[in-house]
Amino acid sequence: MSTYVTANPATGQIEREFTELTDAEVPQVLSRSTEAFASWRTTPVAERAKLLTRIADAYDARKDELATLISTEMGKPLAEAQGEAALAGAIYRWYGEHGPDLLAPEVLDPQGSDESLVETAPVGPLVGVMPWNFPYYQVARFAGPNLMAGNTIILKHASICAASAQVMAEIVHEAGIPEDAYINVFATNDQIADMIADPRVQGISLTGSERAGASVAETAGKNLKKAVLELGGSDALIVLDDGDIETTAKIAATARMSNTGQACNSPKRMIVPSDHVDDFVATIVREFDAAQVGDPTDPSTTVGPLSSVTARDNVVAQVQRAVEQGATLHTGGDAIAGDGAFMRPAVLSGVTKDMDAYAEEIFGPVAVVYGVDSTDDAVTLANDVSFGLSGSVWGTDITHAQQIADRLEVGMAYVNEHGTTLPGLPFGGVKRSGFGRELGRWGMGEFVNTRLRRTS
Ligand code: NDP
Repeated sequence: MSTYVTANPATGQIEREFTELTDAEVPQVLSRSTEAFASWRTTPVAERAKLLTRIADAYDARKDELATLISTEMGKPLAEAQGEAALAGAIYRWYGEHGPDLLAPEVLDPQGSDESLVETAPVGPLVGVMPWNFPYYQVARFAGPNLMAGNTIILKHASICAASAQVMAEIVHEAGIPEDAYINVFATNDQIADMIADPRVQGISLTGSERAGASVAETAGKNLKKAVLELGGSDALIVLDDGDIETTAKIAATARMSNTGQACNSPKRMIVPSDHVDDFVATIVREFDAAQVGDPTDPSTTVGPLSSVTARDNVVAQVQRAVEQGATLHTGGDAIAGDGAFMRPAVLSGVTKDMDAYAEEIFGPVAVVYGVDSTDDAVTLANDVSFGLSGSVWGTDITHAQQIADRLEVGMAYVNEHGTTLPGLPFGGVKRSGFGRELGRWGMGEFVNTRLRRTS
């Protein structure tokens, strides 16, 4: 049986199975992508930009259909799925609009009678390995800037997202991008490793787990290929003494339950002044208990299933282990009986450094609340994990909050908001959250040849 299977996580029903790439097709894919690069790189920038805008138009026009597809494929509640399709479209539109300027050659100040010109040139075929948690958005972050830059793409999506992967390829091709400039593959990990090692491939971008990131980066490193990795996170949300406990707790609860907690930049650790912990926990518990957990295609649902029963069982086990190790469970944390991958959102407190939950990423609807006695302790706690994706600081004195935000060891620090993602802003982390940046001009700077031409 193929590993590329659509199984509705709300029902457990297997809906579709997809044929995997054969080993014999791997070299063909590499040749096709290389040949397509020769003409795609010389396609005028304005033409590439126009085609990206047509992709964006298709995402907008097909938003509802696209949303329903991922709701049944990976369980995202419908309204969130519509938002994701719109964001993916906005990313393609942003690169269509700003790409020509970002790619324009730059003439540097002459040192005498010389001329120095810096071009932003494409590098060639790239492999993208993408996860299931934001099926459209993750692909757009990789495909948008790289198609605009003139690179060609070989895309391997998560095995549970084969249906949306197919539709995305269809949208790109219907917009007029050549078939082989964007090749969707239902490949195995070994086939991906072979592709990365092949001299024709110039780079690899992966969003996913540390395990997967380390594996592809090892192959990339051995073969001297550039890699961009967007991995896990255990983001801190810090409420300062002058923060509004009730309002912030409500916002934090909504953010933590978004996408059923399966986001790298979800506020997984909530750090509040000790004397406010009880109030903060009470509000989060109230919000979590009020969540409508159920069928993601039902508009009244606010929390869908996790991506699979296995993923759900892993999160439930993490909560149970935290309790066994001495943490306090205030609500939820249990699997909901039935065939779907549902669980009740959980709130934990009393997690200490010796417990697994202190250091590990919990990829599900679980809030871990910590009390601290000082702002310095809040910063120390926030930074005391191996991850460094993003973090947020909440307070009334904005200057003070910004100063605290500046002390977070992260790629993205927010004040009075958490996790805002816009096409023009950089996205990425430090430490074990990965390296490189996606989105904005930074996302277009990863896989290009910053090429100097000097004439004297
Ligand atoms: P994975 O990292 O296994 O999956 C992400 C993508 O990587 C998928 O396309 C997967 O393919 C692929 N992949 C996995 N291993 C390899 C490999 N050796 N070579 C090439 N491709 C590979 O994530 P999981 O689905 O297993 O989720 C596990 C954990 O990862 C989560 O609990 C969370 O902590 C983290 N994660 C983080 C994400 C983020 O946004 N940063 C997104 C998803 C997960 P396939 O599906 O075929 O296995």
